[in-house]
Amino acid sequence: MAAVPDKIQTWQMVQPTSKDRETGEVTQGKLEKTEVPVPELAPGDVLVEVAGCGVCHTDLGYFYDGVPTVSKPPLTLGHEISGTVVAGDESWMGKEVIIPAVMPCRKCMLCKTGRGNRCLAQKMPGNSLGLYGGFSSHIPVPSVDLCEIKDRGDIPLSHFAVVADAATTPYQAAKRADLQPGDNVVVVGITGGVGQYMGQTVKALGAKTVIGIARNQEKLDRALKFGADFCINSTDKDARAVSKEFRGYCKENGLPNTGWKIFEVTGVKPGQEIALALLGFTGKLIVVGFGLAKTEYGIGRLMAFDAEIIGTWGCLPEYYPIVLGMVLSGSINMEEFVEIRPMSTIADTFAEAHKTPPMKRIVLTPDF
Ligand SMILES: [Zn+2]
Ligand SMILES: [Zn+2]
Repeated sequence: MAAVPDKIQTWQMVQPTSKDRETGEVTQGKLEKTEVPVPELAPGDVLVEVAGCGVCHTDLGYFYDGVPTVSKPPLTLGHEISGTVVAGDESWMGKEVIIPAVMPCRKCMLCKTGRGNRCLAQKMPGNSLGLYGGFSSHIPVPSVDLCEIKDRGDIPLSHFAVVADAATTPYQAAKRADLQPGDNVVVVGITGGVGQYMGQTVKALGAKTVIGIARNQEKLDRALKFGADFCINSTDKDARAVSKEFRGYCKENGLPNTGWKIFEVTGVKPGQEIALALLGFTGKLIVVGFGLAKTEYGIGRLMAFDAEIIGTWGCLPEYYPIVLGMVLSGSINMEEFVEIRPMSTIADTFAEAHKTPPMKRIVLTPDF
């Protein structure tokens, strides 16, 4: 059993990158290695020794792009966390766990009506859990939502960090889409951190055809091995050209032009334009990616198509054990999509991941 420390070692975001509105001058964000006290644990709370914390696009948004955190800096970022319980609630002691990226309040109307993934009082490490986040040696969290990892074989505990958020958000999105075996699916942005799990998840849930769309050919080739049946490289193509290629593929393969479920994972305008162009009769567009773009669409078409556009946020903690089961049974491959680095590289890793989206999800393991 690991010892309970006096202090939590952590990499705090002291200040995010900011831009002066008048002068346009950019002040670089600052990450600082520091120590914070181990708080008094409330009944039901536990202290988790962090094994790994994934670097998510959301963290980069907070640090570089002016997306505000709920708890104001200084705070520690990081919400994709796996680790071991070392203090608190006796029934959890010594267990290996995944900490859900969003933890609902379980008291409000949304929570009581099955929409707790979008609970307005939810807590998210590295955003709304006070100063605590995953890029730390330890983190205090409520135990009620933890997902216990059993029989992980020889997969390192740190790798399971990606189940929080990257691999579970697609499951919630598939539920939101009412995905059924035999459905035909498009994933716009199938090569991203969440997108590649989106493709794998819908395939594992029985999708008949999965068409992936993105720009990086190397990653598209990889997607063909993990979930996608066909890929369209959208480099230098507008939505109309992609739509033509899509329709050509459907025709060649005898696929219907109705009922497609389209997952938009990029959150950027070109991806949204492609997704909207593909939305057709009795189709469903599920918005999984977040961005600030304003994209034009004639919403009257929804009437003519009898189609839907819906959003999806996070994932209910109740679904975590299901997704973990899919990973452990091999119906979702995690190992090909994880890269482990020491946490002391956090500043360089952030800079690198912000510049070029990495091939694999980077998980930082505490070394300080
Ligand atoms: Zn994330
Ligand atoms: Zn709630």
